[in-house]
Amino acid sequence: MIECRGVHKYYGDYHALRGIDLTIRAGEFFSLLGPSGCGKTTLLRTIAGFEDISSGVVLVDGKDMAGVAANHRPTNMVFQSYAIFPHLTVAENVGFGLRRDPRGKAEKAAAVEEALAMVGLKGYGARASHALSGGQRQRVALARALILKPKVLLLDEPLSALDRKMREQMQVELIKLQRQVGITFVLVTHDQEEALVMSDRIAVMFEGGIAQLDGPEALYARPASRRVADFIGVMNFLPTRVVGDTPSGTEIEVPGFGRVEIPASNVSRANPDDDGPSIGFRPEAVSLVAPGAAGHSHVAEGVIDEVVYYGDMTYYDIRLDGSDGFGDKVRPVRIAMRNVFGREVQDVGARANVSWSPGSLVLFR
Ligand code: ATP
Repeated sequence: MIECRGVHKYYGDYHALRGIDLTIRAGEFFSLLGPSGCGKTTLLRTIAGFEDISSGVVLVDGKDMAGVAANHRPTNMVFQSYAIFPHLTVAENVGFGLRRDPRGKAEKAAAVEEALAMVGLKGYGARASHALSGGQRQRVALARALILKPKVLLLDEPLSALDRKMREQMQVELIKLQRQVGITFVLVTHDQEEALVMSDRIAVMFEGGIAQLDGPEALYARPASRRVADFIGVMNFLPTRVVGDTPSGTEIEVPGFGRVEIPASNVSRANPDDDGPSIGFRPEAVSLVAPGAAGHSHVAEGVIDEVVYYGDMTYYDIRLDGSDGFGDKVRPVRIAMRNVFGREVQDVGARANVSWSPGSLVLFR
């Protein structure tokens, strides 16, 4: 549905997009994720036609968009600030884009009702727009975009002005809406959790380039670089010694974990300024086990350094034994344990056994 080939964008001397190659499939929920200033909004605006590109090609639905104005593209954009007209009713706002539509009044009114129903605002047409809540305004903005039946809906941080509860609710509603209408959604967000929850695929951007393009699970489990791993979720990093390459991967030595073979699929790039190689693993990829408990083939030992109780979860920071020789770079390992009734929360200072699975380790070198 959307294809970017070698897209560059300069603002004066500033190189905002540095050779974007990207294919977004029809019907996909696709997110552009990255820190502030990485160029995600610029990329969205070049697809929408609000921004000219300096070089490269943007195709939408197979057609080259060079010279095609925003209002002649099969795309429509929903902005962070809802940009609805406060002096118009809800129905007038939603019908605004149809003002040059040759259809009759009754037909347009039916289209407005249909769009309102889609976003859960059936019967709200006569309401004054200024009296709506933030979530309702965002729905009106969505309905106004959807009524034009675009092939692609571009969403620029549409939920960022909402409070946390409303944002989570709207995330689920947007996913349902996208499935229902079946059109391609492209979402810009700096919120990694939002991207993981909503997207079929995510492009992680840094400094005008795409660092990794993958589904949420692959991004989370096998980040292509330590930088991507740092940006998405919480990951433990431990300094590592590379013992040598094996036919199927790399053998390494890790404090507390001993010697481990990492399959080639789990070997990623270190940051240029990293102090040598490291391994990474998620807090939920390791767990506390009782001493001597059966069925755990990989167990490391240590001392509980910190306990943070969240009700449903407890986070433990564990200082692993066997860190000697790796220097003072070894940080405690953060473990996330789901709390279950009957299992006591452990205390700071207690000895702890940590069970880990070699398959959950990613080597950054
Ligand atoms: P944010 O989440 O903060 O919106 P972003 O990833 O969407 O960030 P962009 O808005 O795409 O970032 O901006 C990318 C870079 O280009 C930034 O450094 C920004 O300052 C610069 N930039 C954006 N628009 C212009 C402009 N019209 N003129 C000059 N520089 C611009």
